[in-house]
Amino acid sequence: MQDMKAFFAELMRPPVRNIEPYDAAPLPGAKILLSANENNAGVPKGVLSAMTAALKRGNRYPDSRNSMLREKLASRFGLEPEQIITSNGLDGLFTMLSRAFLDAQDEVVCGECTFGVYASDAEISGAKTVKVPLSPSFRQEPLKFAERVTSATKMLFFCNPNNPTGCLAAEDEIRAMLDAIPRRVIVVLDEAYTEFSGTDGKRSFSLLRDFPNLIICRTFSKMFALAGLRVGWGAAHPDLLDCLYRVREPYCVTSIAEAGALAALDETEFIKNVFETTVKEREKLSRVIEECGIPFLPSRSNFILLLPGEKTDALKAAFKEKAIAARYLKCAGRPAIRISIGLPEEYAEVAKVLRLCRS
Ligand SMILES: *Cc1c(COP(=O)(O)O)cnc(C)c1O
Repeated sequence: MQDMKAFFAELMRPPVRNIEPYDAAPLPGAKILLSANENNAGVPKGVLSAMTAALKRGNRYPDSRNSMLREKLASRFGLEPEQIITSNGLDGLFTMLSRAFLDAQDEVVCGECTFGVYASDAEISGAKTVKVPLSPSFRQEPLKFAERVTSATKMLFFCNPNNPTGCLAAEDEIRAMLDAIPRRVIVVLDEAYTEFSGTDGKRSFSLLRDFPNLIICRTFSKMFALAGLRVGWGAAHPDLLDCLYRVREPYCVTSIAEAGALAALDETEFIKNVFETTVKEREKLSRVIEECGIPFLPSRSNFILLLPGEKTDALKAAFKEKAIAARYLKCAGRPAIRISIGLPEEYAEVAKVLRLCRS
């Protein structure tokens, strides 16, 4: 039998050969899921029945461009439907961006401690990633991003609030960054967690008037509780979107997912409750972490990043023991644990673990 691994390695595009497959498997047997920033409040009833009804038309292809969803989003956010594109999760939009714009010689600028998909899409395209260090207080500084742009830069990703640090850059800082970046650089503003930040959800879209090279990205996976259904969207100049439509999979948002997203936009009460609970639980959790003497970053999102230093292994073991899934990573060279903000009863279990490791 031939060595099939080596055989296929030869066939692969060179940039793909050294990539590790993504493995998000959380803790086996986990009872409390706090590793993926999902909405643990579950799918609202109204959304569930809208999706169930949509199943009956499962024999039909979805509306390729999801006109109903784009119209509803446009009227909600003061945009034109032509400024909106939908995708198979926000990850699907990032795939379109790299397929349309990235070539082997290009550079992509992103944070050193940010969402991993930006760098992995760049790597798949064969582009080079330039990582911008965090400030000493672990903040992403927009102007520092602009400073890293060179004649080779094709795309720049800024995540706000940033995952996994939870820090929020101010609107005027973002505007100053955009002012300092040439128009030939596509700027991707990832606002996957904006609904948890307490800022006005419409404000950033006004930037689109001045910056045709900007795309603002949102998702139904976090606040809107549809992570398993895979719906993301972006807002940008229609001519930028035209580039993406050339490489977009024609039916990348399923009819079930579109029905779910349409219904989720009507769940005003649910969203208000999730926001209020998240803020309250985030404050409670921050206080306990502080009490326990564990360094952490103040968060404007639905997760908190702990920088537990030498306590990291003990915390990891204690979370495992309690069947709590958290995310373990490195941030600016330091071991870090990202814990999603869960429900109040889940908080109680997390607090128990943290108190075990009090100094
Ligand atoms: C979760 C997340 C996304 C996208 O998630 P999808 O489920 O693919 O919509 C995008 N950016 C950040 C920073 C995220 O954390």
